Amino acid sequence: MIYPIDETHDPHLRSWIESANDPHTDFPIQNLPFGLFADPEDEEDMRIGVAIGDRVLDLSTVAEEIWLNTGATDLIAEACVVDSLEYILLLDPESRQQLRHRISTLLREDVDEEERELLESCLLQAKGLDLALPVAIPNYTDFYSSVYHATNIGRMFRPDNPLMPNYKWIPIGYHGRASSVFVSGTDIRRPSGQTMADDAEAPVFGPSKVLDYEMEVGFFVGTGNFPGEPIPISQAEQHIFGLCLVNDWSARDIQRWEYQPLGPFLSKSFATTVSPWVVTMEALAPYRFPSFVREPGDPQPLAYLDSPNNRDHGGYDINLEVFISTPRMRTQGLDPHRLSHSNTKDLYWTFAQMLTHHSSNGCNLESGDLIASGTVSGATPDNLGSLIELTQRGAMPIELPTGEVRRFLENGDEVIMRGYCEREGVRRIGFGECRGVVVS
Ligand code: CA
Repeated sequence: MIYPIDETHDPHLRSWIESANDPHTDFPIQNLPFGLFADPEDEEDMRIGVAIGDRVLDLSTVAEEIWLNTGATDLIAEACVVDSLEYILLLDPESRQQLRHRISTLLREDVDEEERELLESCLLQAKGLDLALPVAIPNYTDFYSSVYHATNIGRMFRPDNPLMPNYKWIPIGYHGRASSVFVSGTDIRRPSGQTMADDAEAPVFGPSKVLDYEMEVGFFVGTGNFPGEPIPISQAEQHIFGLCLVNDWSARDIQRWEYQPLGPFLSKSFATTVSPWVVTMEALAPYRFPSFVREPGDPQPLAYLDSPNNRDHGGYDINLEVFISTPRMRTQGLDPHRLSHSNTKDLYWTFAQMLTHHSSNGCNLESGDLIASGTVSGATPDNLGSLIELTQRGAMPIELPTGEVRRFLENGDEVIMRGYCEREGVRRIGFGECRGVVVS
């Protein structure tokens, strides 16, 4: 395995930062996700942070003051002193592994007293920091990897033939828009566009009335490939740096009118939200899972999308949850209401297959590219990752604790996505949150 389970995953490992030992934290010492932050109290630029409990370790300062003060050449530390994750993304998996070990060692309970004092000066309260988009994203691609989602959506438009015949052979995707990928917490403006009512003779232009979210997981490309040099499935995972939560906001009325014959365009490109912390492939090693078990009679993947490792370990066991909080709920002090939960185990195509397929025509992937899974839906009615599925295109409105109903999103609504991994004998790790409020 490229990403082995080792001492950094030991469930008994404890940190000298007490909040990291809370069994409910998303960020115990076994996780160590990377992000970019600025301290509003401080004039300094962006710095690289590692989330630990309710704190953030200022990795840029740690690299500068602890690792680089010996004067020796240290490429791993040099990748950390800059104001972006650019060079960490380009480290080979072995160096990333070493970096993880170094960070883990610094945060363990048994770190020596002198070092701990120095480290305490590099530790900030997460609350109050400005978290930025973790990676400068050159390109964004969105797949359609949940067969349940594809079937549910297909059924609405083609009741007799919900799943297109290519679906089980080829990972379906489209090129999204990188310029409008925003970090969690960014307000989302309701888009305007052309829509065509069923009984109308001509389309109209105006604000979308059918605004939806899509619960997805995305991965960031670590090292890319040269044009004309596809990435074989056997090497796909070493090109993946880590994962985040993705909300692919979607204007269904605009989508419905524009999507044929070339697929979604303005119904998706106005906004995509990502969570600020990138959970690394190393951290996720204990949560690997066999890839999707296909129904008898389904085709097996073509050879370029198949490998024993992908079959045995290509899937991930990541629990996903979507919550809504309306203005009235906030006024009444109510907690966000959970709309659904799903799991990436239900994805028909693995991240490795998406990456390999993407590069299979020679397309050059670039370091920092964001590649998203598509809406993660499962087989049951509470496993649906979008409102269009949950409300059956608005036919079955959802009742909220305030008595309000929702078919689609209204202005002021906040969508909150969470993700976490949990397994017997392994420390729970989480992704934090991916939030966005819809504004007019
Ligand atoms: Ca999508």
